[in-house]
Amino acid sequence: MAGDLLAAAARQLEEPLRLFPLPADTIEILKAPESAHGFSIPVRMDDGSLRVFQGYRVKYNRLLGPAKGGIRFHPKVSLDEVSSLAFWMTFKCAVVDVPYGGGKGGVAVDTKQLSRLELERLSRGYINACAHLIGPDNDIPAPDMYTNETVMGWMIDQYNIITRIQQPAAITGKPLALGGTRGRTEATGRGGFHVLEALLERVQLKRESTRVAVQGFGNVARYFAALCHEAGYRVVAVSDSRGGLYRPDGLDIPALLQAEDWRSGAGEGSREVSNAELLACDADVLAPAAMEGQIHAGNAASIQARTVVELANGPVTPEADAFLAGRGTTVVPDILANAGGVTVSYFEWVQNRQGFYWPLELVRQRLEEIMMRSTREVVRRADKYACTLRTAAYVAALERLNAAVEARGTQTFFRR
Ligand code: NAD
Repeated sequence: MAGDLLAAAARQLEEPLRLFPLPADTIEILKAPESAHGFSIPVRMDDGSLRVFQGYRVKYNRLLGPAKGGIRFHPKVSLDEVSSLAFWMTFKCAVVDVPYGGGKGGVAVDTKQLSRLELERLSRGYINACAHLIGPDNDIPAPDMYTNETVMGWMIDQYNIITRIQQPAAITGKPLALGGTRGRTEATGRGGFHVLEALLERVQLKRESTRVAVQGFGNVARYFAALCHEAGYRVVAVSDSRGGLYRPDGLDIPALLQAEDWRSGAGEGSREVSNAELLACDADVLAPAAMEGQIHAGNAASIQARTVVELANGPVTPEADAFLAGRGTTVVPDILANAGGVTVSYFEWVQNRQGFYWPLELVRQRLEEIMMRSTREVVRRADKYACTLRTAAYVAALERLNAAVEARGTQTFFRR
């Protein structure tokens, strides 16, 4: 049985399937994860005690290639959440046409309460518990919330120790020294920036007069905000879990990035805002880049921005999405807007398998090509079916997933 989060994610298929009906076989295959594992991770704490953490790894499906998806360390992680994130990865990989299926992993943990050594033991423990489930041709983890390249470094090291083979392609988002790619850390924010650029004319905006509010100031948000600032947009708000800063004339993003505590980099004229105020602030573009469910039935009416770029996964609930669509707000769906990360993860995997590493400029150029092309393909379907960008993105993904089911000879092949 699907949990609430997976059921909500799957509801996003209803409209695309109405416009682009699929054979029953394909729908059956897409309804549930291929496999979902939960496991205990015993970790020796610094004080000598033993704590057991709950970990998960879900392969949603591998129709287009090995499963691909990050590992999240967060207190709210559950099998339902990980499954819904793996569902999105399936469609995200298909939208940008990288040869992967969807996967995801996580551990229910508050990393702020762990020492660095405890975090390392937990990261290695995660791989001890699921090494048999992953691999370069099977399921390829990467970073997600509260995991980063250091964590991926511990994880790939542990994977190599267990398998006794050097297999850098088993995990992406690694440090450069362990086979990481140039440009991975910035990739999701950069990809979101290219998507916004590709849609600018469609949403009738001009860079210099566009005010952008960003929820979050983590990895994705920082690069997105920095690129927007550099390109001439006015980034009027950013935030973290403690709240945000708002400045109607635009924040000095480089100053915030340079400051040890980003808040102390705020210039004159900026004021503190709560996350609720940030979401409702007077801006043209709102980019939620923190976590899911932030724009919901209870606050959708307060959103002033006419364009919402979903940099986080699932930041707009289906109810809020329907409300915003009805009001004419353009929502750029997560499976397109934040697909830059998985795209550069794909580049990392390709480089690992070739043993030949690309310069940063080549990574950036290829990322831009894929994000621009994918956005054009989504827009083409939105025009063809007169539908939202989200529905169009799902249609694009469904077309590719269905082609992979068909090509396996399970449907029309037998009816001929
Ligand atoms: P991160 O941990 O670096 O940053 C998360 C940010 O959100 C932090 O600034 C945190 O303070 C803030 N935050 C947490 N709870 C909040 C709340 N209730 N209100 C406001 N802000 C809050 O994570 P990230 O890698 O930047 O990921 C952000 C989102 O983007 C997640 O939804 C993640 O799944 C998604 N995403 C990340 C990547 C990637 O490559 N890192 C790729 C695709 C999607």
